Amino acid sequence: MTPSSEQTDTVPHPGPGLKSIRLKHKLLVGIFIVYIPLLSLFYFLQLPQWLVLGGAVFLLLLGIVVAFMIGLTRCPACGQLFHVRGMGGSIFTGTCMHCGISLKRRV
Ligand SMILES: [Zn+2]
Repeated sequence: MTPSSEQTDTVPHPGPGLKSIRLKHKLLVGIFIVYIPLLSLFYFLQLPQWLVLGGAVFLLLLGIVVAFMIGLTRCPACGQLFHVRGMGGSIFTGTCMHCGISLKRRV
């Protein structure tokens, strides 16, 4: 057994994990993009105020939940938290804060 084959046996294939992280990023960006236009549409359609406020609170809570899901995502290559290192971090980073693997990597 060569050292390179041992390494491929122990390191999980990062492709599906990276795809999942990219999907969560796209979902959060989609929520940001949809938020103002959708609530403006609700307002201009003169829907009941409770529905406009309910939609705003729902989208806000959905964004917070997705942001937490992104923040707690583990890197498929190194197993550490992808977006957090120590006390710092960013949910918008495109590279792992520990091993540096990029989300742009296509496998
Ligand atoms: Zn990593």
